Amino acid sequence: MSLKLLFALLATSSCFAQQQMPAVTTVPPAAQASPNFSPEAATEAYLAQIPAQSKARSDAYFQGGYWLLLWDFLYAGVISLLLLQVRCSAAMRNLAERITRFKPLQTGLYWVEYIVATTVLGFPLAVYEGYSREHQYELATQTFGPWMGDQFKSLLVSLVLGAVLLMALFGLVRRLERTWWIWGAVVTEVFLIVVTLIAPVYLVPIFNTVTPLKDPKVTEPILSMARANGIPAREVYQVDASKQTTRISANVSGFANTMRITLNDNLLRRGSPEEILAVTGHEMGHYVLNHIYKDLEFFLIVSMLGFAWLRWSLKWCLARWGQRWNVRGIGDPAVLPLVALLGSIFLFVLTPVLNTQTRTDEHEADMYGINASRQPDGFAQAAIHLGEYRKMKPGPVEEWIFFDHPSGYQRILDAMRWKGENLNRN
Ligand SMILES: [Zn+2]
Repeated sequence: MSLKLLFALLATSSCFAQQQMPAVTTVPPAAQASPNFSPEAATEAYLAQIPAQSKARSDAYFQGGYWLLLWDFLYAGVISLLLLQVRCSAAMRNLAERITRFKPLQTGLYWVEYIVATTVLGFPLAVYEGYSREHQYELATQTFGPWMGDQFKSLLVSLVLGAVLLMALFGLVRRLERTWWIWGAVVTEVFLIVVTLIAPVYLVPIFNTVTPLKDPKVTEPILSMARANGIPAREVYQVDASKQTTRISANVSGFANTMRITLNDNLLRRGSPEEILAVTGHEMGHYVLNHIYKDLEFFLIVSMLGFAWLRWSLKWCLARWGQRWNVRGIGDPAVLPLVALLGSIFLFVLTPVLNTQTRTDEHEADMYGINASRQPDGFAQAAIHLGEYRKMKPGPVEEWIFFDHPSGYQRILDAMRWKGENLNRN
């Protein structure tokens, strides 16, 4: 259970982000309504608004992210192998056994030792990735102290939630020798549902302040769009994301009656009214199209496959190296670094599949949002600004492997096609 996965759960879709935004949407001449409007020419005109220097910078940031995927994978793999090979994992288990005889507590204690050890060993890469690099590209607003404070809070959240999940999973493995992998996926799914349910109310406030949005100039058009689309929303929320980042974003979070749309303060401060409406329409798309429920179903299938992979691969590895590592079996908490290693291989290989699932949701929400807000230019503006930290026009294979949202080029083209088809309607 990595921090990344945990926090991916907190915000189902963080959608729009950028650095600087004009107060009003400017529509380039080729994208303005005319009898010979061409979606392709309009899209190119929007792309031409991006200064070459900004393009080079955001391409570098985004492509650096491809390599980070690989370095994260390899670095974590080395840490896992190290913990196993020097029998550090076995030593942590022995310590937990000396402290208590109660099995679930042994698992919980082992988890505390494990997460502290992996956090310390992973610290250099975490600082580079989450702090230095973000500052280098002017995306971060925190100084080192508050950043460390947030890291510490994440550690505590993972400590508590991870301990609960692992105690349940190891209990299953010990009791159900043949079917643990099926029940493991079910328990993980239930855990995910609960975390999704409590996240907006109990987890997000640990890091940020969320308040209902009060300015009627902003809320009235949004609530009107909600009513027009059959969404029973009475409130829209805002979060003080500028505490950590300059990125603009919005998300739908929660589950059942904790589900809510939240706009971050960067978007509210710098987005044009058209842009805010287009972004909110996109978020409403996630809501109306039940993406949270579909994602939970998809997660169940993926975790079932993941647990099946673990069942096979753990057995294979332990038969070969279990003794050398002093790991007694799959019910022994000391197996955890191996689980992390094999789990990360599974997720690494699945990267394009997971990205494609998310990207498909995002494309659906895009189309819904353009139709609901009727703001193709506001939408194009949001995509342009997002291009300040995402590569705007990738190749098709690149998009398929690495993009969890449609590329900026594709998003603007979608908006301009909509505009072209709607020129003569009202
Ligand atoms: Zn989205």
